[in-house]
Amino acid sequence: MFEIKHTLCPSCSVGCGINVILDNEEIVGTFPYKRHPINEGKNCSNGRSSVENIEGKLSFDSKVLDDVIGKIKSCNNEKVTVIFSGNNTNEDLQAIKSLCDSKGFNVIAYADNLKNFDPVASYDDIEKASNLFVIGNILYENPLVGRRIVRAKENGAKIFVNDDLENSPTANITDEFTSVSVKEFLESIAPDESSVILFNEIDSVEDLDLLESADSKLLPVYSKSNTKGALNLVEATSKEDALELLDNSEVLLVFNDDIVNEFDFEFKSIPQMIVFSPFQNDTTEIADFVIPIKSWLECDGSFTNAEGLTQEFSSVYESENMGIVEIIEKINGEVE
Ligand code: SF4
Repeated sequence: MFEIKHTLCPSCSVGCGINVILDNEEIVGTFPYKRHPINEGKNCSNGRSSVENIEGKLSFDSKVLDDVIGKIKSCNNEKVTVIFSGNNTNEDLQAIKSLCDSKGFNVIAYADNLKNFDPVASYDDIEKASNLFVIGNILYENPLVGRRIVRAKENGAKIFVNDDLENSPTANITDEFTSVSVKEFLESIAPDESSVILFNEIDSVEDLDLLESADSKLLPVYSKSNTKGALNLVEATSKEDALELLDNSEVLLVFNDDIVNEFDFEFKSIPQMIVFSPFQNDTTEIADFVIPIKSWLECDGSFTNAEGLTQEFSSVYESENMGIVEIIEKINGEVE
């Protein structure tokens, strides 16, 4: 019997709704969520394929969790570092934060080299803007925000794009294209209160500070679905600080992330790398221990999207794997 269940797309921070199609409780595809206010019946290819990684789904073994807790207990808490990922729900992140606070574990909240901005522009602000200043290839990487940029242009906004790729989808709709440093770009523009600066990649902390002081609304668009929720709880960690923490770690706990390709770091040098993941990925491949957990399809929870809207979602199907909150409770009860 076919069923359609509503959930949220986990593939970027735009916060689109997505329908999952089940046939006798097996996922067989996705379907656009027609009435969802963020994406209004559209999903990009990343969103539509977001259920495909269930093919690499992992199954739980309680003995491995006991071994992992033993490894954490045998390490000085100051040498334990936790990856605080925007792939997790707000509820899971709250549990991870409480664990880190109570045990004194280090936290890496790396967010594409970005940080939290508060307040941020809304998606409606984009459509009403007089000028849009876009840094990065947002039409390609975050298409359902990109759609708002197209609509703003139709409404008469002028679009300025600064990116490395001159022929990208974002560059193709621009009124003025540049490929300069963020500093030079910001110096060359004249934003006002009805302008919005959108960005999804920034190289340096100095550039983030320049953006913060710009006379314009800002909208950082993160690559992970709940990075905004994560940064509402924990300050973003710079790449330099993250590398230093990794270098000093004896146990690394990775909750629901595939981080090995995000840092130029020899992860195998960490004595114990423990990965909690629903699916196989490059990070589980090199881990010392892998603990399978529920995926977002099997959890109830909430994500906070790029514009700061928190949306709840319910599980699409049942799983025998533990959720992060249950795992944290177990670690919390056994590690001093
Ligand atoms: S724009 Fe982002 S949230 Fe929306 S469908 Fe695409 S990947 Fe998912």
